[in-house]
Amino acid sequence: MAILVTGATGFIAPWIVFYLLQEKYQVIGTVRSHGKAERPFELSFEIIKDISDPKAFESLFKKRSKEIDVVLHTASPVVLNTNDYEKDLLIPAINGTKGILNAVRRYGNVKKIIITSSYVTMVDFAHSSDGSLVFTEKDWSPVTWEGCQTNAVNGYCGSKKFAEQETWKFAKEACISLTTINPVFVFGPQKLDEDVGPQLNVSNEIINNLLHNKPGDGMEPDHHASYIDVRDVAKAHLVTFQKGLPGEGLGLSNNRFGSQDILDILNERFPYLNISKGPEPGKGDINPGAIFDNKHSRDVLGFPFINLEQSVYDTAAQVLKKDGLL
Ligand code: NDP
Repeated sequence: MAILVTGATGFIAPWIVFYLLQEKYQVIGTVRSHGKAERPFELSFEIIKDISDPKAFESLFKKRSKEIDVVLHTASPVVLNTNDYEKDLLIPAINGTKGILNAVRRYGNVKKIIITSSYVTMVDFAHSSDGSLVFTEKDWSPVTWEGCQTNAVNGYCGSKKFAEQETWKFAKEACISLTTINPVFVFGPQKLDEDVGPQLNVSNEIINNLLHNKPGDGMEPDHHASYIDVRDVAKAHLVTFQKGLPGEGLGLSNNRFGSQDILDILNERFPYLNISKGPEPGKGDINPGAIFDNKHSRDVLGFPFINLEQSVYDTAAQVLKKDGLL
């Protein structure tokens, strides 16, 4: 029995691979190039150059379908520095999902599919900073194909929603066990220190930017949203296929956070850095964002989540170590 993990070089997937290997599962990881396959993990790599190609997964499944029992599809573009939303966000997300599902249907012995989706398929993102809004795992974002082509954030939201909708359609037609994992902003350390560069992945860049704010810079970026630690996201993938959980869209969020909360933690834990204290030091977020009522998902998963202080500390400490400041 092997588990296929797509996007094995990303931020979340290496933690998934780590937990799977710890439990002695056989893992096949997809990466975009041979160079990226040089990773210190005990798994076999397959090259999938570009998931925008509808046939990207054909040769992999043709070759190894007998081995693959479980598919964990995490690969999807998380890029905000683009103006071509269709080419860089929507097409790879949707074709990637449809491509792997079609390959499963054509060649597979796959018994379980888990898609790493996002809470942006559930929340009305335009109102996600509104503290009076409550949303749940049962909700769908109202974003439309036209409406999502106005900026990269909306493009990303659309890419996740339309890809997820394709998945549910497929699962119904193919009668296959599907679960989606829908995290909010994911913080936490990179699995490998070598993956810490001057820029981190999009969600951790919030912490990285705040860590580099100087006194007088204020609070940039100013977020009011929700967080979950990457280790809990990875664990949720593992627990999901071990428990089965067909038909669930699992909303992963521990709590709300604001940029002021992050600055408060950074200043408390690294006082010698002399970074910005933010407009309301020590008060935390005074304008919290929308509430994600994910009680159902927490109950179903049944393990406690890592708190903000730990997640922010571990993320920042890894960056500071790399910079020789810790
Ligand atoms: P990363 O950008 O770190 O990882 C994305 C992965 O997808 C990388 O391995 C990347 O390859 C691969 N990928 C992207 N585009 C293509 C493409 N066109 N062809 C082949 N491979 C591609 O993001 P995360 O690890 O943070 O995200 C993983 C999943 O989790 C995504 O589906 C994302 O939408 C979802 N998610 C993330 C959240 C977060 O806050 N981080 C929150 C909610 C959901 P390469 O490394 O070569 O670029």
